[in-house]
Amino acid sequence: MALQLKWVLVTGGAGYIGSHTVVELIENGYKCVVVDNLCNSSYESIARLQVLTKTEIPFFNVDLTDEEGVAKIFQQYPIDSVIHFAGLKAVGESATIPLKYYHNNITGTLVLLETMRKFGTKKLVFSSSATVYGDATRFPDMIPIPEECPTQPTNPYGKTKLAIEEILADLHASEPEKWKFAVLRYFNPIGAHASGLIGEDPLGIPNNLLPYMAQVAVKRREKLFVFGNDYDSRDGTPIRDYIHVVDLARGHIASLKYLDQIGDKQGICRAWNLGSGTGSTVMEVYKAFCLACGIDLQFEVVGRRAGDVLNLTAKPTRALEELKWRTEMSVADACEDLWKWTTGNPFGYQVMGVVDTMFNKPGDFGSRLITVGRGSGFEASFTNVGATLVDLNVNGKSVVIGLASEAEYLDESNPYLGTTIGRYANRIYDGSFTLEGTKVQLALNEKNATLHSSLQSFHKQRFLGPLVVNPNKNEYTLKYILVDREGQFPGDVVVSVTYGINIKLQTLTVEYEGHLAKGSATVMNLTNHSYFNLNMFQNSSLNDTEFKLLSDKVLEMDSNGKPTGKIVSLENASKFISTPSGPHFDTCFVTGAEAPVDTRVNDLKPVLTAQHPLSGIKLTILTTEPSFQFYNGGPGYLKNHGERFGFCCEPGRFINAVNINEWRDAVFLKKGEVYGSRTTYKFE
Ligand code: NAD
Repeated sequence: MALQLKWVLVTGGAGYIGSHTVVELIENGYKCVVVDNLCNSSYESIARLQVLTKTEIPFFNVDLTDEEGVAKIFQQYPIDSVIHFAGLKAVGESATIPLKYYHNNITGTLVLLETMRKFGTKKLVFSSSATVYGDATRFPDMIPIPEECPTQPTNPYGKTKLAIEEILADLHASEPEKWKFAVLRYFNPIGAHASGLIGEDPLGIPNNLLPYMAQVAVKRREKLFVFGNDYDSRDGTPIRDYIHVVDLARGHIASLKYLDQIGDKQGICRAWNLGSGTGSTVMEVYKAFCLACGIDLQFEVVGRRAGDVLNLTAKPTRALEELKWRTEMSVADACEDLWKWTTGNPFGYQVMGVVDTMFNKPGDFGSRLITVGRGSGFEASFTNVGATLVDLNVNGKSVVIGLASEAEYLDESNPYLGTTIGRYANRIYDGSFTLEGTKVQLALNEKNATLHSSLQSFHKQRFLGPLVVNPNKNEYTLKYILVDREGQFPGDVVVSVTYGINIKLQTLTVEYEGHLAKGSATVMNLTNHSYFNLNMFQNSSLNDTEFKLLSDKVLEMDSNGKPTGKIVSLENASKFISTPSGPHFDTCFVTGAEAPVDTRVNDLKPVLTAQHPLSGIKLTILTTEPSFQFYNGGPGYLKNHGERFGFCCEPGRFINAVNINEWRDAVFLKKGEVYGSRTTYKFE
């Protein structure tokens, strides 16, 4: 149990092996903090890791050679152990810029070790490489390669790995009871996470066989070059030991656990091979990948590459006996997972047409402002606080009211502009309800009600992610995650907000999904709170906007403004809300849709249209929800804007449903159930 509280610093955690290891660490109950200077990776992998693991992963964009920057991480987090992936890794490049490799890999490690010493962190797992053995075929009896094989790297990259191994050995020897070092010598990591969300994203021309073939398969490269087919192997091509990256990641957990169970007064510095023990030829891997992707990839056999040898297969017995670790996945599994990653992300983490900036200072990835569809005539921007829609631009005209900085979104005066409202949108009268026989009392933020969850509102919480994907050239989806823990509301919930933008159809779809992660029941009602104005560029009020309501049914309110539980007709509702300088509305309209806890079983149904004759923009709102609150801005409501400057249409469950017997099933979320809804904003 104590294990669950341990913080692990993952250096290079945005990279290929590091990101897969973060997933395994979190699944094994560790907490992760990542440091990476993003020189060979992108923040996108961290955002995806957050969505995948539904966990906040503190991230530091810091170079390991920066002593102060590294010290700050140790000051902020009680780091129990470190997994050290950060390093430059291209063998060929290391021969052209050796000084950079020595400085980056070795100085970075020295800074890390010195900081660990200062802060009392004693455990480190180090990413070494089978490259340290050099050409093991120089010995008659060293294939498969055991850890005892003498080391003799043949390139600067391998030499940095061996130098770091020696530094670790020397440091351990200086205080043998203190330091616990696991040196992991990887063979050839391949594949990707089975989710298809994270994988290898090489910059430039891939150095390795599988990423190269993947790029041939998606036509980013013409053909595969096979370097020599005249080796003494089954098919003439060289033999290597390929290992699924998830197996490799699990090897880190096994070694961390091994270090964890060594007593306090005992140290260790030991190397383990992480390989499968089974060699595959280049052509065997080629065939496995062709099978996975269903394409006979073009290849050409060219001459042998300098330095290549026949067979480099691991002897992984030590890891099996001591770490109780062995590979569980095959080359075929890795090929399938790689293909899933490649087809979902043909350009790796790069998504075309996405502009990623920061609201706060550059590098503060918590305040990302992501814009999709720039220059297309239908452009949308979002930020993590409140998973907020910051701007929606139709043919060069903004149609929602947004703010210019994250600070303004977090300010008290922000009237929920464009934000996600939860855990419970709209009003709960007297701020109380009964759940499983127990009365729950919330803080009131109106005279007689809790509006939009008061203190535990989603609009000021920072959502995780987003996962941004571009399934085809006209569509983008952004998925944000929030883990909202028990506070005023019972139970922990996990909520996802998915925005779908279709540029061609000019639609924005918002989908909510939520479930209980802890506890037996809670309440939920989620909506988006965008203020629309279809003629904003002329600083116009709503006066000329023509509204059409599909239904004129509203919830009846008593003299105190509370719903009576009855549905009544509002005569000429459309005309009424279209009246220039007309009354202020804060009214719950009924759509007529059924109200299960997941309304996505309903068809999307148009509930409101709004059109402005001057801008010519028409908005149709379609939803699966049983009602929507219509609000057109009272006096003084919106700083720097007059009254009736914008209107909200907040699809959701009936106002105060928690307290009305016939409506409450739609908002009570029990363990195992899924809450859901979908709303589309269509522009013409
Ligand atoms: P990767 O390049 O995807 O990941 C390394 C990460 O370290 C990158 O995100 C990079 O931005 C970061 N980084 C580099 N220098 C840094 C610095 N000074 N400060 C902060 N961050 C820095 O590589 P990978 O394939 O995930 O490899 C991880 C580790 O495993 C490396 O040390 C590599 O040498 C070793 N290794 C990799 C392989 C392989 O085939 N991928 C084989 C054996 C060993």
